[in-house]
Amino acid sequence: MATSSGNASPAGQDGGRRMLRSGPAGAAELGEQLRAAVAHMARWMDEYGGFSPHPALDVEVGALERATDELRTRLRENYPFFHPRYVGQMLKPPHPVAVIGYLTAMMINPNNHALDGGPATARMEREVVSQLAAMFGFDQHLGHLTSSGTIANLEALFVARQTHPGKTVAYSADAHYTHARMCHLLGMDGTVVPTVADGTMDLQALEELLRTGGVGTVVATTGTTGLGAVDPVHDIVALCRHYGARVHVDAAYGGFFRLIADDSPDGVAAAPFAAIADCDSVVVDPHKHGLQPYGCGAVLFRDPGVARHYLHDSPYTYFTSDDLHLGEISLECSRAGAAAAALWLTLRLLPLTPEGLGAVLRPGRRAALVWAQQITASEQLSLYQHPQLDILTYFPNRDRLSLVDRASAHVLTQGMRLPSTQSLFVATYTADAAALAARGHQVVADVPHGRILRSVLMKPETEQHVPFLHEQVLDLLAGGHE
Ligand SMILES: *Cc1c(COP(=O)(O)O)cnc(C)c1O
Repeated sequence: MATSSGNASPAGQDGGRRMLRSGPAGAAELGEQLRAAVAHMARWMDEYGGFSPHPALDVEVGALERATDELRTRLRENYPFFHPRYVGQMLKPPHPVAVIGYLTAMMINPNNHALDGGPATARMEREVVSQLAAMFGFDQHLGHLTSSGTIANLEALFVARQTHPGKTVAYSADAHYTHARMCHLLGMDGTVVPTVADGTMDLQALEELLRTGGVGTVVATTGTTGLGAVDPVHDIVALCRHYGARVHVDAAYGGFFRLIADDSPDGVAAAPFAAIADCDSVVVDPHKHGLQPYGCGAVLFRDPGVARHYLHDSPYTYFTSDDLHLGEISLECSRAGAAAAALWLTLRLLPLTPEGLGAVLRPGRRAALVWAQQITASEQLSLYQHPQLDILTYFPNRDRLSLVDRASAHVLTQGMRLPSTQSLFVATYTADAAALAARGHQVVADVPHGRILRSVLMKPETEQHVPFLHEQVLDLLAGGHE
């Protein structure tokens, strides 16, 4: 069985340097850093002169301890998102540096709607947004953080509607479900483009659609939520330029893979990610692969002129500065300045470079490739399709789809019930008979669709656990009782 810490050094030491490590190994150092942050913010508050807190706000410490005790107990009802053996959904805790950044700023709770509400964190937001824009190769940009990828995509589609009124938005059948929903919300037509056998957009179908002249914006996804499939953005851009359509890239999940999009053995395909630089807008979620707590998406536009679509005035928020207020280029009003502070601090220490955040993504990519090989070599499992990022889809070999479904569900539910040090947490993905057949799988479709297994390998530590994970899936299947 793999050990829990890979080849890292003990007790937070690395060649004599004091290290802040993630996970339980870093708990003591994180505690120290948070104590220092609380003390510093209290000193700053004191500079304005002491004041007596209102007694209505006082809580008794005994009562607090009882309540936090209950909170901690209830939080154990979660799955262990932090553990390398949790390979289910796109979930993992933020980096401790992000926790420090978030909590430090949260103590004064700045609001990045306006420079009046959060001048320091609004400047940090501009800096991190510039760094994201540089990562994608935008030479100029307009952009901001959002509370999620969904809101970020809503903003991109809102601009799509304003620039191409009356035209439709095209996205692939595997695009995130919120695109259809947001089109509905915006009163626009959305058109679904079929996918080809690797889960990417069918370019022939796209071209036929573009030829009608009715498409205003095409949404390309670099990393679909289900399969991690990367649409060929380079080809999509070329087609769209020819037919005069815009391109928006939904890189909510996959955006940070730009840092390892180098065609190397443990990197990802370069061309689709390089082509984001030529697109009109892109969305990326720092709360997915950017080590941030929830509440951090981002939308970037290549043409700063789209600011005109957001034009509005606010008699009560914009008053201390003629500089651009982030609320003037965002559909949301209040936004956490703490989210910007957390991302800003994280990128100071783990910058958007191949050696910085890129080195956090590579092990998950390797884990997907190595596990894919083991699955392909095994007689009990089949790979649904080759992983394009760090998301793996696979299924137990059974002749009928209803049995594939049952065996997959068995691994899902029984894996979680194993003793905590042996447990395995996977997710499932619903595949239909046609999709299985398109990928060359000979499974009799006795039911229209069934569940297969899906694992998101987004924690770098998971690489060390792949042999154990693979064996555990096989053991669960051998144990039977499906
Ligand atoms: C997660 C995801 C979204 C939605 O983002 P949220 O932050 O969950 O709102 C949109 N598109 C893709 C491709 C995603 O993976």
